Amino acid sequence: MERAAARIDFDAVRVNCARLAAELSGGTELCAVVKADGYGHGADGCAEAALAGGATRLAVATAAEAEQIGRRLQQVPLLTMGALTAEEVDTAISAGSELAVWREDFRRLIADRARAHGHPARLHVKYDSGMGRLGNRDAQEVLDLVRACAEDPDVELAGVWTHFATADEPDSSYFDEQLSRFDEVATAVKAEHPDVTVHAANSAAVLRDKRSHYDMARCGVAIYGLDPFQRDPAEQGLRPALSLRSHVADVKRFPAGASAGYGRKWKAAVDTWVGVVPLGYGDGVRRALSNNAEVLVGGRRHPLVGTVSMDNITIDLGPETEVEPGDEAVLIGSQGEETILAEEMAARLETINYEVTCAISARVPRRSA
Ligand SMILES: *Cc1c(COP(=O)(O)O)cnc(C)c1O
Repeated sequence: MERAAARIDFDAVRVNCARLAAELSGGTELCAVVKADGYGHGADGCAEAALAGGATRLAVATAAEAEQIGRRLQQVPLLTMGALTAEEVDTAISAGSELAVWREDFRRLIADRARAHGHPARLHVKYDSGMGRLGNRDAQEVLDLVRACAEDPDVELAGVWTHFATADEPDSSYFDEQLSRFDEVATAVKAEHPDVTVHAANSAAVLRDKRSHYDMARCGVAIYGLDPFQRDPAEQGLRPALSLRSHVADVKRFPAGASAGYGRKWKAAVDTWVGVVPLGYGDGVRRALSNNAEVLVGGRRHPLVGTVSMDNITIDLGPETEVEPGDEAVLIGSQGEETILAEEMAARLETINYEVTCAISARVPRRSA
């Protein structure tokens, strides 16, 4: 028995990737996004499972992530999607990663560094078609950058890409606007450079609109069996890969009126039993779940009561209970017939499933399920 662990079902990651790859037609490649330690699931194991499921490329956000993945999986094309400092450009190039670019001065910096490394850097020119974050908002400047990449022997033009702001909003017409803006740029680039990898779709876009698939789709959240639309992942044929498990460390009798935890934010209404589960916000179980979550023990839901502390939570087991110290406690995942989805916890926190799994801290070991 362990204090707490995130159990990762790598087979679910493999199957989810196969399901997404089947959604893609023709030569569209699946790029598995394993940034932020695989959305909290463990990047290395998830990358390997994704490749086994049909992903042919990988993407990360930072140079340090590229270093970690690139060292282990040298033969797999890897894209570092984020903004990089000059030092990070060196790290990412050494890791064998392809890089994002959207400004001429940064493109020159990469070219200089690539020359020093002795081989051309492969670049993906990013168009900000409406996300309003990374990328160049000016279509003409994007095309100029594409030309500069194609003409400079120190870099190779590998891709042209964009990112959607509202792919997860099923009725969004803004998605269509971004798509048509990007499509113009993509068409112009393809006419000159037919081998360039054009890519736009994240998980939500893959599931909502085939027109967004192009040559490659960058899927993160869905490969982990999390629903990009914040509904039940089963509706999209996705299987959650992560469960968060601990155990009941103690079971205590609480007379009516006794309180649990800091600030006495919960008091027993009647005589009851309270279970103490030894994980808390130090593990990424957010404090906003105080008096606002359920935990599975013995195949049943029990309310989390009182304040979430750094290392412990308390649950109300009721006036009669068979729960004993040592029984398994599940915060995310299934036990018996019951399941608590990351989406459910996210709704309680008024956030998204992405943040719930990313928040699980380094103190929680990731174990193969
Ligand atoms: C994180 C990220 C993705 C993956 O998005 P999901 O919604 O998790 O599929 C794709 N593209 C970019 C640029 C990203 O930052």
